[in-house]
Amino acid sequence: MSIMETENKKGMKQIKPEKFVYFFSSGDTDGSAKMKNLLGGKGANLAEMTSLGIPVPPGFTISTEICTHFGLNNGQLPEWVFPAVTEALTKVENKIGKKFADPKNPLLVSVRSGARASMPGMMDTILNLGLNDATVDGLAKSSGNPRFAWDSYRRFVQMYSDVVMGMNSSFLEVTMEDLKEEKGYKLDTDLTLEDLQKLVKKFKQQIKDSTGQLFPENPMDQLWGAISAVFRSWDTPRAITYRELHHIPSDWGTAVNIQSMVFGNMGNDSATGVAFTRDPSTGEKAFYGEFLINAQGEDVVAGIRTPQHLTREKSSGTGQISLEEAMPEAYKELVKIYQKLENYFRDMQDIEFTIERNRLWMLQTRTGKRTAKAALKIACDMVDEKLITEEEALLRIDPQSLDQLLHPTLDPNSKKTLLAKGLPASPGGVSGQIVFTAEEAVEWKERGQNVILVRIETSPEDIAGMVAARGILTTRGGMTSHAAVVARGMGKCCVAGCSEIDIDRNKEIIHVKGYILKKGDVITLEGSTGEVFLGEVKTIEPKLDHYFDRLMKLADGVRTLQVRTNADTPKDASTAREYGAEGIGLCRTEHMFFGADRIDAVREMIIAESKTEREQALQKLLPMQRNDFYEIFKIMKGYPVTIRLLDPPLHEFLPQTEKEVKELAQRLRVDADRLQTKVNSLHEFNPMLGHRGCRLAITYPEIYEMQVRAIAEAAGQAVKEGLSLIPEIMIPLVMVDKELSTLRELTEQTVLKVQKEMSVKFDFLIGTMIELPRAAVTADAIAKQADFFSFGTNDLTQTTLGLSRDDAGRFLGSYVSQGILARDPFVSLDQIGVGSLVKTAVDLGRSTKSDLKTGICGEHGGDPASIEFFHKVGLNYVSCSPYRVPIARLSAAQAFLKNKA
Ligand code: PEP
Ligand code: MG
Repeated sequence: MSIMETENKKGMKQIKPEKFVYFFSSGDTDGSAKMKNLLGGKGANLAEMTSLGIPVPPGFTISTEICTHFGLNNGQLPEWVFPAVTEALTKVENKIGKKFADPKNPLLVSVRSGARASMPGMMDTILNLGLNDATVDGLAKSSGNPRFAWDSYRRFVQMYSDVVMGMNSSFLEVTMEDLKEEKGYKLDTDLTLEDLQKLVKKFKQQIKDSTGQLFPENPMDQLWGAISAVFRSWDTPRAITYRELHHIPSDWGTAVNIQSMVFGNMGNDSATGVAFTRDPSTGEKAFYGEFLINAQGEDVVAGIRTPQHLTREKSSGTGQISLEEAMPEAYKELVKIYQKLENYFRDMQDIEFTIERNRLWMLQTRTGKRTAKAALKIACDMVDEKLITEEEALLRIDPQSLDQLLHPTLDPNSKKTLLAKGLPASPGGVSGQIVFTAEEAVEWKERGQNVILVRIETSPEDIAGMVAARGILTTRGGMTSHAAVVARGMGKCCVAGCSEIDIDRNKEIIHVKGYILKKGDVITLEGSTGEVFLGEVKTIEPKLDHYFDRLMKLADGVRTLQVRTNADTPKDASTAREYGAEGIGLCRTEHMFFGADRIDAVREMIIAESKTEREQALQKLLPMQRNDFYEIFKIMKGYPVTIRLLDPPLHEFLPQTEKEVKELAQRLRVDADRLQTKVNSLHEFNPMLGHRGCRLAITYPEIYEMQVRAIAEAAGQAVKEGLSLIPEIMIPLVMVDKELSTLRELTEQTVLKVQKEMSVKFDFLIGTMIELPRAAVTADAIAKQADFFSFGTNDLTQTTLGLSRDDAGRFLGSYVSQGILARDPFVSLDQIGVGSLVKTAVDLGRSTKSDLKTGICGEHGGDPASIEFFHKVGLNYVSCSPYRVPIARLSAAQAFLKNKA
């Protein structure tokens, strides 16, 4: 796109795109579904629906580039935006035959956000814009429904004062609730015309008192205020939190959609609703949704009234009428449209619609958020329906989301006390202590407590609390309420609309079935049934269904990168095998040293004053280590097993407090003061860069000698029993090739000695971890001594970025929220920095040995973006924790598909 640069009067540097306002209306649409980057998801799909001949109220989209501009220029709209927007507005007026600000027959618009990636409820929306004391009368006359006009006006004043003027919305909410109470009304729809007129007047006075500003009467001023507010909402704390959570870059920005209003609150022949083309919780192929008669869109998602079901089938037994029964014609058209949309976009859609006087209008369609369980079923079903290919099915599943399937569920055999039943909004079985606010959820979580956030309904402000909570329970709202949608997106357990529970916010208690529970009491949620139980309930490991197996098999058939696991115990090794690990990429032997039965022998070894003493202590450890390795070899049934020799600084194994030192001295029958002196002497200022890794064996070779012997004896025994295996012995934290050649010699000699003693032969590999930049850039020399490389990207990140992996958590959050770093580099590989060292080392290593086996065993081995990078640089395998194995299998398949020529 060609770009013009101009300077405006204030000296603001502006980059003016050639086009930044995109019109949509039947027969006259600028955009398309392909233009999500510019138009945001909502704008792009509104344009596409219009082109498909689906009824969409006309409007236009201001592109995301203007949001970026707005952010860079202290929240100011560039001057050239004004004429372009006014021109587009005139075009809408001409289409509709109504004029903005016309006191007789006014055009009203909605102003809504819409980013490239959907961020449900995170940014702002304003409806009914264009109303003032004059146009409200025009609307009353033109609609023939004064109550509707004033209801829209009251909604507009409430929304605008909150979103644009920064007024706390609960003040006006309370005023309205007070009036309803005074009049004995239950519902908002009980408010009369006079009530609404009184309310609007009162609201405006309250706004003036609270903000010091008059409510803007001029519709054009309202429009500029709203556009700016929507752009501003890109950077609200909740939007930032959501972006961080979903790794959405902060420079994408939101578009603004300005669209002529249609009204679901015009009376009992009007309605508004949201729907999914398949069930977002289970994936079942059934039209699924909710609506409210005589309401506006926000009422459904905000969970203020519990909505009705769309289909007769779903609503039977609820005592409420379905849309299918209430408005059969509009329902039939809606069914046709949803089928058309799903077939066109070839994916499950989340749609919003409004019925104005029996006429259906579509307001949004987007790819629907779904649980992982639903995602797998929908992908498999769509392959069977020939809607998508197997490759597309694989690319459809977010690998991270598989994590949800591996979460525990409640043990059906455990004793439970059912408190209540709500809607099964998002699956999982979790227990936790009740808290009532998002802030408490965050604070309690920081103190290490597990909490369940209990709210009447959630709002986007609660996002941080929802992240902190193990589960979310709401007493109002449906399956498409904010709580339900956001929890599903996060893979977090949620029970919504649990109306049997009464929350007393003042007393901080809940009443349910005669029980009174207070803050801090424990409850359990079962998100796939909607049940709420008293106290803690035992959980069991999840069972994976055949859709999971089918997609995993497809992934295995596609990927070239192997997936191993990091496992230190037989239990981890068998879990990982169940999830499809093809070997162990990292067995950290130090974890085996912490067992109650062996830690004292380890300590004896550390405090030994002579080699003989040390060897005596090591002799005690030898049989235990041998048994550990033997068990693991057996479980892995010939799959490769990489065992890393001791890595951490020795003092990590020693007692910390004076009391612990005294107790240990007694047990080991040594002098407590001498032991304390030894502990003190092992103290290091910077242990991560200290006496650890292979440096331990340079000074105390007998430690590695014992471990290698244990590995060789275990392998020898397993081989004798008929197992074919090739143990891989790995030496950590190598910085120069000489370290490795020294320790290779020791390792080789030890294994050969054992083989001779046991009269057994087996092949074995000796490799190293690449964890230090020096090792990476001299990998050609190191490869001469190594049969394989395994990248320890945890240490390599720490040493390349100069960030302590144990301390950086305290400040990395600020780096990410300020956009200085895109992601936490300990979670997702810093591909430019650390990644280039990985690539260099692979290339150098293979220049020495073309068939050098390479893998990665840092935490990044389970991160989808990092896995794609490892695929691209040609590693042979990734190794990750057992529960991430399925994620890695799918990510590796996606990496192949995305990068094939
Ligand atoms: C690493 O550094 O990436 C690694 C796997 O080793 P550890 O985390 O045990 O230091
Ligand atoms: Mg390491």
